[in-house]
Amino acid sequence: MTLKKVIKEEKTKKKSETFKNFQNKKPKVAIVSLTSCEGCQFALLDLGQKFLDFSESVEMVDFRLIEDEEDTGEKLDLVLVEGNPVTKENETLLKKVRKRSKILAALGNCAAMGGVPEIKNYQEGRNTIKHVYKYIQGINNLEIKEIDNFVKVDFVFPGCPINAEEFLFYIPRLLRGETPVIPDSPVCVECRKKGNRCLLLDKIPCFGPMILGGCDAVCPTAKMPCQGCRGLRPAGNIKAMRTTLQKMMTDEEFENMSEIYGLRDDLEDKLGETI
Ligand code: SF4
Ligand code: SF4
Ligand code: SF4
Repeated sequence: MTLKKVIKEEKTKKKSETFKNFQNKKPKVAIVSLTSCEGCQFALLDLGQKFLDFSESVEMVDFRLIEDEEDTGEKLDLVLVEGNPVTKENETLLKKVRKRSKILAALGNCAAMGGVPEIKNYQEGRNTIKHVYKYIQGINNLEIKEIDNFVKVDFVFPGCPINAEEFLFYIPRLLRGETPVIPDSPVCVECRKKGNRCLLLDKIPCFGPMILGGCDAVCPTAKMPCQGCRGLRPAGNIKAMRTTLQKMMTDEEFENMSEIYGLRDDLEDKLGETI
């Protein structure tokens, strides 16, 4: 069964059914943001009533976009981490919430893959920071790293921003102690279902075949190539895709596109070469 079908079925269930397994004792949940644009948190707020239903079904210990009460530091069932540990303070916070929580999930591309900030790693960090700060003495300028370099990550909500419906689908499973796996299906499946003409046919380089679907192919549907914000598919044929793309873009263009969402280091691992 495809993820889309499963989500459709799930939508037809009443709220009380979806969250019934943890109605008696509300799980403690925190949504923590490191350095980020906060777009993934806003994607959750965009769910409107559905997000409020979810919030009521749990004890929201920390979510700074909707409350400003002090986090008391209690134990957590689930922490969702958005953004990068760009500063030492971020790194300390990340390690602290990991210790407090049974489950830790990465919320979005920045946390999971380094995201847009990871471009700095490839562009000589010192020069990049000079664009932002006039005086750089005393400014932390750490290398950008995915959160799994610092802590164990139990699940990843991929995307930039995340797919909020996917969030609603997997959260109850995580809270029931399951370890869900997002189906390994490329963006192309959703793209073709929408009746889109494949961009590759017009020599427009699109990463879709090697990227994990689940975003409803929003970019190719808007005539934009997929740039890989949901990350590489585990079973994607990366080498074949690289060969195909070499016929329609230069190595430099490939390199630049792979840096947008922190895909470059993962591609280099799979290809076994520096790009
Ligand atoms: S993944 Fe995208 S939307 Fe989410 S925090 Fe990072 S830049 Fe913002
Ligand atoms: S446009 Fe991109 S995502 Fe759509 S079918 Fe072609 S390669 Fe796949
Ligand atoms: S089409 Fe590609 S870049 Fe666009 S949202 Fe989906 S995975 Fe991300």
